[in-house]
Amino acid sequence: MNTNPELIQNGQYNIGHICTRLQCDRGLSAKIAMHCLGAHGERTQWTFGDLERESSRFANVMQTLEFSMGDVFFIFLPKIPDVFSSFLGAMKAQLITGMLFSNFGGEALLDRLGDAKAKGILTRKSYLRKLLHIREKLPDLKVILLVDASEHQTEDILSLPLLMQQAETEFKTPLTSAETPSVLHYTSGSTGKPKGVLHCHRSVLLQNRTAREVLQLQTDDIFWCTADHGWVTGTSYGIIGPWSLGVTQVHFGGAYAAEEWFKILEEYGLTVWYTAPTALRMLMREDPAIFARFKLPKLRHVFSVGEPLNPEVIKWGRAVLGKDIYDTWFQTETGAIMITNRPGLPIKPGSMGKPVTGIGPAIVADDGTLLPDNKQGNLCLKPGWESMFASYYRHEEVYRQKFKHGWYMTGDTAYRDAEGYYWFMGRSDDVINTAGHLVSPFEVESALLEMEGIAESGVIGAPDELLWEKVVAFVTMKKGCEWNSDLDLKVRLHISNRVSTMATPKEFVVLESIPKNKSGKIMRRLLKARYLGTDAGDVSMLDDI
Ligand code: AMP
Repeated sequence: MNTNPELIQNGQYNIGHICTRLQCDRGLSAKIAMHCLGAHGERTQWTFGDLERESSRFANVMQTLEFSMGDVFFIFLPKIPDVFSSFLGAMKAQLITGMLFSNFGGEALLDRLGDAKAKGILTRKSYLRKLLHIREKLPDLKVILLVDASEHQTEDILSLPLLMQQAETEFKTPLTSAETPSVLHYTSGSTGKPKGVLHCHRSVLLQNRTAREVLQLQTDDIFWCTADHGWVTGTSYGIIGPWSLGVTQVHFGGAYAAEEWFKILEEYGLTVWYTAPTALRMLMREDPAIFARFKLPKLRHVFSVGEPLNPEVIKWGRAVLGKDIYDTWFQTETGAIMITNRPGLPIKPGSMGKPVTGIGPAIVADDGTLLPDNKQGNLCLKPGWESMFASYYRHEEVYRQKFKHGWYMTGDTAYRDAEGYYWFMGRSDDVINTAGHLVSPFEVESALLEMEGIAESGVIGAPDELLWEKVVAFVTMKKGCEWNSDLDLKVRLHISNRVSTMATPKEFVVLESIPKNKSGKIMRRLLKARYLGTDAGDVSMLDDI
């Protein structure tokens, strides 16, 4: 492992320490760490000194509540300043810190909190109802902290502001090793429940290096990563990478709004912007007159992640922003950017670019043979990069299965051209990528079966111009029941409440039967082929065609 002596001092790998105390020791206490812009126009400014103090206070609160190294703690909040101080404080206290999308429904929460045996969660009053519904099924959950309660509600539903008032502002972060567990993000597979991808504090090495070498962040930059903290990009590049470099960040808690976004870019003099293809495609659909009103002379670089970046978006970026948009590729499991376009490397529109220095991807056949240039196969990585995940938390066997023939199997298919550029082709499993969010067809199929009247379900991702893929659900009805607009609405609400709004199907198709193979497995490949009117390939394993 290549350590960085400026970053890792006296063997201290702690992410919370590096992003706050170390920056203050470098003389940045008074420098603005974040401009936090709320969904309703609230504006908060925090210096690195503020971040250091508030995260230390939070670490003290957690110690008082008897949380210690390795305890699992979740943050379930929209993007507000408390997310950042509590995340960094939890890092200082060496807790395993799970990050949740704030639009998760009850079932999605239960799956994650239950699987991780969460001991605590930080949330706000308006989300409490969702948690109280499932509380009985979470015997390990000892405490719920509320960011917006001025009084403790019960013995174990506590006011964070009150606890913070009573807490010391200094915290001596314990010496934390490279291998100490840190961040936990749940990710969806095509079978079974979501798995918790566990990282450790060593990830900061590569998050820091890629923030320098790929995003090319420099001390005076003003950086905006639009990703939610529930997603790996939101922690790796919305928190750790930039703050480990002492860079000022903008965080915006509102939703997509073209004009507001451009106002932010202009007003805060953004220099580097990291966003996602769906957002860029939404901007592309807007009236160009909107953009003509804004001047962005300081904007140096624009990056994108999460889904394939269409060549048309790159064209749009050149015309409207006067900039190349650099596509970057990584996964929750990789923790940091692995393959990427970047300033200085000519872009081949549609390609993900080339590997980050020191990262060893390869295109590998199912039997482990290395494939030559221009041959499509499994995109694999040589294990051992600094931000490689440590395990699927409490699912060691699934973790081991991700490594074959000496390679980490990413689950993506791709090819490499003769000049060493990588081209994304798709997923090798059934996981759906909608607007950059991975959705498990299994989770949606299970939620559909909970609805009265639905007998069977099958869920696929189908190409979509805006979202990259949209969720399409196929159902069969129980005898005497029929699909109607009332049920359509109920089903949408149910999935949004149980799983998440991202997972709610855009389209429902009622069938007479769902194709299954001999062992009863839903043949999503056939459903997809029928939906798209394409050839399903080898279907000899199916029962009912
Ligand atoms: P997640 O673990 O949720 O971050 O999702 C990772 C997956 O998103 C990857 O395995 C890819 O399937 C997809 N993905 C991420 N970045 C890109 C990209 N630049 N181009 C194509 N697919 C991407």
